Order: sequence, then C-alpha cells, then structure tokens
Amino acid sequence: MPLYEYQCSACQKVHEVMQKFSDEPLTRCPECQGPLNKLMSTGSFALKGTGWYTTDYKRASAKSGGESAT
Ligand SMILES: [Zn+2]
Repeated sequence: MPLYEYQCSACQKVHEVMQKFSDEPLTRCPECQGPLNKLMSTGSFALKGTGWYTTDYKRASAKSGGESAT
C-alpha cells in the first residue's frame, strides 16, 4: 500500500497517510481543516509529468465544493 505525504498550507504539518490507490486523496488537514498539498518525496514509484495532478486537483475541488455546502 503506497504511503502518501500531505503538507498543510495552514499549519505546515506533514501528514503521512497510507492509502489504497482507489482511496480518495486527502484535501483537508485532519487537525485544522486547512488545505493540503500532496508531497512527492516518498514512494518507490515516480509519477512523471503534471497532467495527473491537474486532473486530481480538479476532481477534488469539485467534490469538496459539493460536500461543503451546509
Ligand atoms: Zn493543518
């Protein structure tokens, strides 16, 4: 199972999360709900190019926008 690292833009904490490939990426800091940036520092596989990130980001934004409506 791959290990993902996310850094919070608000509190600057880095969260290491084990996720399946099928799991949704984290978008909110578990501690302060700030926006998370996915880090590329770990993992035995290298993702080349930036296209995947753009797609992933758009999908996450659309999802969180719909869910955050209270
Ligand atoms: Zn945070």
